[in-house]
Amino acid sequence: MPYMKCTKCGGRAVYHRAYSGEKLCNSCFCSSIVEKVKRTISKYDLLNYGDTIGVAVSGGKDSLTLLKILNELCKSHTSKIFAITIDEGISGYREEAIKICKDLTEELDIPHHVLSFKELFGINLDDAIKLRKNKVSACSICGILRRRALDIAAKGLKVDVLATAHNLDDILQTFMINLLNGDMDRIRWLDPVIKPRSEFFARRIRPLMEIYEKEIVMYAFLNDTPFQTVTCPYMNEGIRSEIRSMVNALEEEHPGIKYSALNSALKISQNLITNERELKTCKNCNFPSSSDLCSVCNILETIKGNMYI
Ligand code: SF4
Ligand code: ZN
Repeated sequence: MPYMKCTKCGGRAVYHRAYSGEKLCNSCFCSSIVEKVKRTISKYDLLNYGDTIGVAVSGGKDSLTLLKILNELCKSHTSKIFAITIDEGISGYREEAIKICKDLTEELDIPHHVLSFKELFGINLDDAIKLRKNKVSACSICGILRRRALDIAAKGLKVDVLATAHNLDDILQTFMINLLNGDMDRIRWLDPVIKPRSEFFARRIRPLMEIYEKEIVMYAFLNDTPFQTVTCPYMNEGIRSEIRSMVNALEEEHPGIKYSALNSALKISQNLITNERELKTCKNCNFPSSSDLCSVCNILETIKGNMYI
């Protein structure tokens, strides 16, 4: 690679940020990521002074990077940080991730809480997948149950805010999947400034939402953040991988297109909020729900019903 000068400090640049034209050395690149997180937090007013924060950590590069950055940024506040890991029960995959989370949280001196699908819902993901009869994807079951598990953990720890590590690529992919499925409710959830629809829930925030996935990988490497490299055995079941490849190919040809697409997705989600429906209470588990039976009870009823067939 020809010698490139860092746009910010004049040192040796190692990274060309195509969408902005910047060339950055290691140190300026890392500072730019932390600055972006700070900007996102302040732009959308994601945190209040003294908030207790629960950070969902899966053991992947995004969540461990988020934990490290929030820990650094919030040191000067009175905020307390908890790390929360949900063990879905995916054999040969989740065990390593839990160990990585445990080691890092010990190193950072952050309390770490692990909750499993098995203890919360009476079934792990591997078994739920064996029992499904219809074409519902593993990620749909996993996503619905994990969301509830995180809400339960946040409630138990009395956190004000639940931070998840969705990056710009994740949010765009989710937007496109929901668009293709016609799922407007989930598009509405993309809004970064959304208030919880019921007092039951902690505020959800996504401080990495404006950062490209590949930049988080690079940041994690440069900061020696250990992370799980094994991929989930179910990850190719849905259409997310195909959408990821398509959006990456577009970005390669048209740098910055992901940013403009994210902005459009956020505007659409904000428009949907004005038309939202009142929440009901699930007749089975009493959680706030948009229909009589919440999505968790609905999916568990279907899966567990199949145990006896
Ligand atoms: Fe769950 Fe899908 Fe992620 Fe695997 S890839 S952990 S099944 S959401
Ligand atoms: Zn329910």
